[in-house]
Amino acid sequence: MRIDRIRLFEVSLPLRRSFETSSHRKSAITHALVEATSADGAVGWGEIATPQDPFFGAETTGTAWLVAPEFLAPAVLDREWAHPEELEAAWAKVRGHEFAKAGFVGAAWDLFAQYQGRSLASVLGGTREVVQAGVSLGIEPSIDALLEQVQRQLDAGYSRVKLKIAPGWDLEPVTAVRAAHPHLDLHVDANGAYDWSDEVAELFERLDASALTMIEQPFGVRDFLAHQQLQRRIATPICLDESVVQLDDLETMVRLDAGRILNVKVSRMGGLTQARRAHDRASELGVPVWCGGMHEFGIGRAANVAVSSLPNFSLPSDVSGSDKYYEEDIIQPTVAAHGGTVAVPNVPGLGYEVRADRITELANRVWDSAAARVPEAEEV
Ligand code: MG
Repeated sequence: MRIDRIRLFEVSLPLRRSFETSSHRKSAITHALVEATSADGAVGWGEIATPQDPFFGAETTGTAWLVAPEFLAPAVLDREWAHPEELEAAWAKVRGHEFAKAGFVGAAWDLFAQYQGRSLASVLGGTREVVQAGVSLGIEPSIDALLEQVQRQLDAGYSRVKLKIAPGWDLEPVTAVRAAHPHLDLHVDANGAYDWSDEVAELFERLDASALTMIEQPFGVRDFLAHQQLQRRIATPICLDESVVQLDDLETMVRLDAGRILNVKVSRMGGLTQARRAHDRASELGVPVWCGGMHEFGIGRAANVAVSSLPNFSLPSDVSGSDKYYEEDIIQPTVAAHGGTVAVPNVPGLGYEVRADRITELANRVWDSAAARVPEAEEV
């Protein structure tokens, strides 16, 4: 297999409802899409789902736009490969930039699945025909507004609800949701918004009473020790998200007992290849995993659905229907949730048709390796 041409498209889609986390509020999402064309004309798609601002991690759409054309595309173009895993070696020298790499890895897996005549889920080793979908709710203006949102998602059939929390928006809203829904699979995500102190530890001890499925990333990215200290004091499992970028981080988490559940976010880990490795290693270590989302458009969402079909994705993933976020997606049909589950496509490739015409029309900017290359005749 050889990729002869790569195009990048930066596309913005407005959100149906703006979304607030502990760090910021957003009303539209901008991602870069990777189109990889093979030597014989097959086309694979991947999504660089980094936020525009460096608040989740250090990467932004802008950094991806710098690194992808200069370092990642040249590493991939014209290289012979038989399996997407081989691309990891192509950019072994490029440190970080996991989201940008994930876009290329996704396109390679899509191409690989098409060549195999199998679904993306199947080539990844997926075993589920449907995956459980959970929803993530941002910080709402009031507890009443939050309760209304929770009810709306339950009415839509979702069985797991995750609440974003932050200092000042934690105990009260969580207790209110728990009181209203005693049996709901409920979990909270702080996106690292807390600093360790006894008061903070006591706050999380009180959250134990809400019987949460997990408390996700209460402390900073590098602060494994704070997570360890807290896990010693609470019964609720801690789940790590931002802290686990490489497999080493998972080993650290487990050895320190700094977390007992892993959020395998495909983009954060550098793409489907590494996400699958994390899944496999977590399985060996007895750590259940689920797939977190980054408000992916349809291409990234399709990859999340596929990876969530692997056996150790035993908790509901953030693979809710596209319609929860966007009026009109860039794939068809869109990812749809029915009764809180999403069917895993079983046709070759991503399993959804990518609307290339709509992507071209919406693109804020385009980079094309064919245009960027100096024609041979002009080389000296
Ligand atoms: Mg998270």
